[in-house]
Amino acid sequence: MQADVVSARVERARELTKSLTKQGIRAVALTNVDNSGITLVKTVPVSRLERAAQFGIGLSPIFDVHLVNDDFTSSADLGGPVGDLRLMPDTFMLRPLAAQPGWAWAPTDQYTQEGEVFPCCQRTFAGRMTERLAERGIAMRLAFELEWFVATVDAKDATPIHRGPAYSAAVLSEISDFARDLIAALEEEGVGVEQFHPEYATGQVEISVAPQDPVGAADTNVLVRQTIRGVSARHGYKSSFAPVAILGEVGNGGHIHFSLWEDTRNLFAGGKGPHGMTDRAEAFVAGVLEELPALVAVGSSSVASYLRLVPHHWAGAFACWGRENREAAVRFVTGMVGTRDTAANTEVKCFDESSNPYLVAGAIIAAGLSGMERNLRLPPEVTVDPGTLSSEEQERLGVRRLPESLEEAVNHLEKSDVLREAMGDVLFNAFVAVRRGEVAAFADKTPEEVVEAHRWRY
Ligand code: GLU
Ligand code: MG
Repeated sequence: MQADVVSARVERARELTKSLTKQGIRAVALTNVDNSGITLVKTVPVSRLERAAQFGIGLSPIFDVHLVNDDFTSSADLGGPVGDLRLMPDTFMLRPLAAQPGWAWAPTDQYTQEGEVFPCCQRTFAGRMTERLAERGIAMRLAFELEWFVATVDAKDATPIHRGPAYSAAVLSEISDFARDLIAALEEEGVGVEQFHPEYATGQVEISVAPQDPVGAADTNVLVRQTIRGVSARHGYKSSFAPVAILGEVGNGGHIHFSLWEDTRNLFAGGKGPHGMTDRAEAFVAGVLEELPALVAVGSSSVASYLRLVPHHWAGAFACWGRENREAAVRFVTGMVGTRDTAANTEVKCFDESSNPYLVAGAIIAAGLSGMERNLRLPPEVTVDPGTLSSEEQERLGVRRLPESLEEAVNHLEKSDVLREAMGDVLFNAFVAVRRGEVAAFADKTPEEVVEAHRWRY
């Protein structure tokens, strides 16, 4: 099976080599996202792409226990200087990098030197969960929405590229060339740009892109971020995907939107459940909602995440759901009348971009599947800001405050049989070790120091 995948990718690399060279592309950036949420890269000249597709590029397995501050920890299976993995490029996903002339990019899977998938491979985990869903005849369409902070940076200071008004045309006129170049670069790469706007916080902007299959959406998330970094650099800017760029301001969300499809039927519309959800879609969302306290350790995976995940910031700090409720961690979106068959989807708002998008995709599916297996129903809908409810009302509606620290979140994660089974022990233990390592690394740091330490890492 793996051998077939590899030989198809090698064949594709061979086809691409000529056309890439003709387009003036000289080198390919090969990425993977590690358990700290950092995107790692190794690069090869185009002439070596075919060989890389066949035999991979070496990487120490210690990077699966790499921390955000560049320290390393260890797990039962991983740690120390010995060993090698192969980063195997998925040449079918190769794209030119429009903001880095002469460069292309491709995501990679992690293999062992024996040609087996490495059990920590986050991208393979997302693919495996997608297959589990497919066994039930269901396909997920997923999109990562990106909010980020842009600044001009000199040796001393970061000066935000705008200071509001939030969502304003005035801001757009100040950042017009940057925004146009970004949209153009993404479209040139084949990314389905749907919308761009100046966001609420100082220096903050947002882009949304079209939904795809889960692995494709996570790949696109990596590509979009690399393109944002590239366009930013060409304008003398730096972009931050950290959960909080400026302490005390609204943070950067990494919301995900997903819908579930059986052939051409959207399971979030035309059903008998809440707001037209079908039974299976409701069970899936109920599974996600139930697992959220553990899921935030995956989707809001840094110490800094919990400076963002606070009430009244539209970050979704409460495990509850509501139609178009922007304070609920799970916001149900029906879309405009006339478009509901295609538009209805679920947004998970509590996640941010310090997380690994492949793990987020896989973990959401695992939680949803567990809801489907038990045919779970949703608790009552929350139609107000859950942070304004009394504790009695919260209890009646089943509203829970999500973890207030990474430590609290990882305690929930460690108790999650659903996520442990889905990820497998090697990946699960390494992921938990990284969270514990980061909790320890920042234990005596002030919020300012935490923000500072995470600002330019993702
Ligand atoms: N910036 C908010 C967050 O931290 C989200 C704002 C919005 O709903 O667009 O998630
Ligand atoms: Mg937003």
